[in-house]
Amino acid sequence: MATKAAEQAQESAANTKPLTIGVLALQGDYEAHARAFTSRGARTVLVRKADELAGLDGLVMPGGESTTMLKFLEKDGFFEALGKFAATKPVFATCAGCILLASEVLHPEQRSLGALDATVERNAYGRQIDSTILTLATELPGGPLEMVFIRSPRITRVGEGVKVLARRDSFPTLVRQGTLLAATFHPEMTADTRVQQLFLEMVRAHKAQGPST
Ligand code: GLN
Repeated sequence: MATKAAEQAQESAANTKPLTIGVLALQGDYEAHARAFTSRGARTVLVRKADELAGLDGLVMPGGESTTMLKFLEKDGFFEALGKFAATKPVFATCAGCILLASEVLHPEQRSLGALDATVERNAYGRQIDSTILTLATELPGGPLEMVFIRSPRITRVGEGVKVLARRDSFPTLVRQGTLLAATFHPEMTADTRVQQLFLEMVRAHKAQGPST
């Protein structure tokens, strides 16, 4: 059994080594996500195949078009591999990524990974022209956050284990369930990196616990 000192040494090593963050790069806004994490000191890797998930400390699932991403994911066991990854490692999912991560997708119904205990309605605020930027209250340190909504989904139900960190009207826009963080907006499109910062803290904390089984 590891001693307290050994545990602390392991934790501080995990705190100083750069984290490796994968960014799912099948379609959508993955380059902006990669830039945001690189600028916060992480090593970023673009992920296009199941075997590229190996060795990542955390994964970003960007916005874009969830139906298109699904088509790519349904090849070569990528969907199943991603489901396994999300069950054991930190994932940060935005917009289309949030749709893919949810347990239930409506409007229309769509296959999803089922990792995040939430119901998500696609395109719930109308078409591209109804996209908008709002500054809304959050539970994040530092107060309200600018949120860019693009053909945004709406989270209409969350399970008991899901913490709501921000809302638009009464609907959650930023949620956390253990090692999963999901947003219905695009944090990579604004200069404020508090959401990415939170994800990096989640990844660091998870890594400090040692290798997952
Ligand atoms: N409307 C897209 C979908 O249903 C999501 C939009 C986005 O990711 N900005 O997949």
